[in-house]
Amino acid sequence: MIALKIITLFPEFFDGPLRAGLMGKAIESGIIALEVMDLRDFSEDRLRRCDDYPYGGGSGMVLTPGPLFRAIRAARTPRTRVILTTPAGRLLTQDLVKELSGEAELCIVCGRYEGVDQRVIDRCIDDEISVGDYVLSGGEYAALIIADAVARYVPGFMGNAESLVDESFADGLLEYPQYTRPAEYEGMQVPEVLLSGHHGNVAAWRRDQRIEKTRRLRPDVYSNYLMRNNRGNDHGSHQGD
Ligand code: SAM
Repeated sequence: MIALKIITLFPEFFDGPLRAGLMGKAIESGIIALEVMDLRDFSEDRLRRCDDYPYGGGSGMVLTPGPLFRAIRAARTPRTRVILTTPAGRLLTQDLVKELSGEAELCIVCGRYEGVDQRVIDRCIDDEISVGDYVLSGGEYAALIIADAVARYVPGFMGNAESLVDESFADGLLEYPQYTRPAEYEGMQVPEVLLSGHHGNVAAWRRDQRIEKTRRLRPDVYSNYLMRNNRGNDHGSHQGD
């Protein structure tokens, strides 16, 4: 079980996506204890404002410290790791996802507009996390990605926990190509070995495919894989993998 608190200006954003699929079930059954907190509830402004103009000028608005300090203090317990979603953060990887899934409580703060006052980051945030090198219009999109990726590692979330072992990035490689019925579609055949029923050959084929696919599509991931496995001189050949 993991407690997940999300601080946002747009609580309604989460109504749909967090009710669907495995996440919906996990929240209903209590495997994920979700609390979506409306940042405006922590504003002391008559109009519940939470943003203001940036000092020094420039375009856009910045989330003010007051509501965020109060919301994060309300969310935080001694077991909480508080994350700010920001393009300036540490890149979310499967290793980081696994690490976060070991926490008892996560609080995800969603930025908006030009972002948040730096003093919030300096005083209230444990980790700044980015979901990629591009800019989203709000941290809510990033929060969904973090929440979903982390939830998959929470015991009981996945119908079949074995999927976690076999999938992309689990051991530094992408997943092998998947096929289902029919065996032939518009002239394209499913590879013979998958129809053979020979488990050893299927496993060897999948392993080769994973290595080849990773090398072709994600050379960065592949060279990390080689380094992790001390195979720096293994360029090109994967015989015996
Ligand atoms: N002015 C900011 C900058 O240039 O870095 C971008 C702000 S963005 C329009 C608004 C909010 O979306 C951010 O405060 C952050 O919470 C979220 N956001 C945008 N891109 C993100 C990313 N790649 N990863 C995580 N959060 C992101």
